[in-house]
Amino acid sequence: MAYTVPKLKNYSSVTLDKTAEKLVALLNQESVAVKTEPDWKTFRDRWMARKEGILTQVNDQWLKAAPKEAKRDVGQRVNQLKGRVEQVVSATLERIKSGAAEAELAAERLDISLPGKRRPIGAEHPVIQTMHEIVSVFRNLGYSVQEGPIIETDYYNFEALNFPPNHPARDTQDTLFVANQESKPRRQQLLLRTHTSPVQIRTMEKMKPPIRMVIPGKVHRNDPPDASHSPMFHQIEGLAVDSNITFGDLKGSLDHAMKALFGSKVKTSFRPSFFPFTEPSAEMLVSCFICGGSGKRDLEPCRSCKQTGWIEILGCGMVDPNVFEFVKHNGYDPKKVTGFAFGMGVDRVAILKYGVDDIQLFFQGDIRFLEQFV
Ligand SMILES: [Zn+2]
Repeated sequence: MAYTVPKLKNYSSVTLDKTAEKLVALLNQESVAVKTEPDWKTFRDRWMARKEGILTQVNDQWLKAAPKEAKRDVGQRVNQLKGRVEQVVSATLERIKSGAAEAELAAERLDISLPGKRRPIGAEHPVIQTMHEIVSVFRNLGYSVQEGPIIETDYYNFEALNFPPNHPARDTQDTLFVANQESKPRRQQLLLRTHTSPVQIRTMEKMKPPIRMVIPGKVHRNDPPDASHSPMFHQIEGLAVDSNITFGDLKGSLDHAMKALFGSKVKTSFRPSFFPFTEPSAEMLVSCFICGGSGKRDLEPCRSCKQTGWIEILGCGMVDPNVFEFVKHNGYDPKKVTGFAFGMGVDRVAILKYGVDDIQLFFQGDIRFLEQFV
């Protein structure tokens, strides 16, 4: 950009010095920015070109325009300035030729081959780690993985799973309801799902039999937190439906899964139980994998199984035909299909596996605790 030298307001030595100082400052500033020879040529011409160069302008505007009595003073300043410009312009060329400018340029260049700053990757939470282990056992048995919403309707969480309104089993699952839902019909009211079972219905609505699937996820219940309870915890639920599934399939599949999870030596045992969505229902126990089923560990009573040698690990049963009635339209005719379902608490398995004595530790986010499981 062409530079226009300012006209002098007067020819006092103060004004002359100030204006000359400004020009020298500009000269130095521009000199530093010169890095290559073509840059330098432009720089030189800008200051020293005969036509329109800054020095020529200074000569015309200052010296030629000066009144007679100021000419001597002005001439001296202009000569000083000229000397200075010549000196800086030649020093700049020297700097470029010596390679100093190139080094400066290299220092300023962004080296995109340098590695970036790495963020620590983090590690899987012990509960999630346990969840993945359980899921992979069932994946290997050919089960697919399904997920569903954590905020559910009363219909999917209770009604379609054979809990009619006022069914006493609803009391065993202290439910956290979403506020201000009273104006809606009961089945549309929203709540935090109390189990992963609603995803069974949701999946059967979408997929025709046969199906084999596991559903991992978070669930909520209105339990005050203590060493073995948390208002939020994790479940894995499983469902297999086909034309000829029996209780023998249930026992065989779960026995195999427990051996894959806890070691080939564990034994399984079933005892009758009750769930609204299965009939018959059972609780499954595994022989204690901490003490090997002896009830003692290093001559001390085993705390994991409370000296019984057995650990309750999951609830299961044959799908109640009433549940199939809700998805009959999608090929689940209770006269033609049967199935089994099971559900287990992931946090509880993690507690047993890692010997943790307080479920709260999993959710307090204390890095010193969590780092032990990396
Ligand atoms: Zn034990």
